[in-house]
Amino acid sequence: MSFEISQYKKLGSLIVVSGASGTGKSSILKPVIAEDCNLDFSVSCTTRKPRPGERDSVDYYFIDVDKFQKLIEEDAFIEHANVHGNYYGTLKSEVEGALQQGKDVLLDIDIQGALSIRKNFSKETLIGRLAEFVFIMPPSYEELERRLRGRGTESEESLKKRLLNAREEMNHFLEYDYCILNSDLYKAIGNFKSIIESFRCKTRSFISK
Ligand code: 5GP
Repeated sequence: MSFEISQYKKLGSLIVVSGASGTGKSSILKPVIAEDCNLDFSVSCTTRKPRPGERDSVDYYFIDVDKFQKLIEEDAFIEHANVHGNYYGTLKSEVEGALQQGKDVLLDIDIQGALSIRKNFSKETLIGRLAEFVFIMPPSYEELERRLRGRGTESEESLKKRLLNAREEMNHFLEYDYCILNSDLYKAIGNFKSIIESFRCKTRSFISK
């Protein structure tokens, strides 16, 4: 029997990215999402209030705690977590259909969410098979604090909470598949693009039709 690549369907990759607030994560992700038309950003639900300039259904689905609870009961989330005192969750509807259609899907989620995906989805499931885990590391803790203060988006209390969480989160980077050190933004963007391209060549994303 002759071989035909068209007998196979190509699934997307689920690219799970974490990095503490102030690591420069969005400076790396945003330009890549904007220019890569096969990469979909998964819009999460959150009970956090929007920051100035944030748009509903674009940056997040901004919902209240009751609605969030209802979505948990309906089993609508792949994962959800309490991060810095607010709830955040990844919707199945943002992810599964797109992966089946061969789109790569990017999750920008915290370490609890990332590690729960790693733990709860075996390689036999769609999510477990296609998930790859990328950690973004700041050059140092001092630099992270400087960036976070410079951003000026957080109250002193929220800032302290984020810094404390960051210290704890950075201890877990070895549980990810890739680590990007963000000391030079352009280099970090280049690294991220190369990592995505390497996912696209993985045989695990081909399935017979
Ligand atoms: P921010 O409030 O700064 O937008 O996000 C705070 C943290 O929540 C970030 O580390 C971000 O990656 C994480 N986050 C955003 N969406 C989700 C999600 O759906 N699930 C989880 N577990 N974390 C999320």
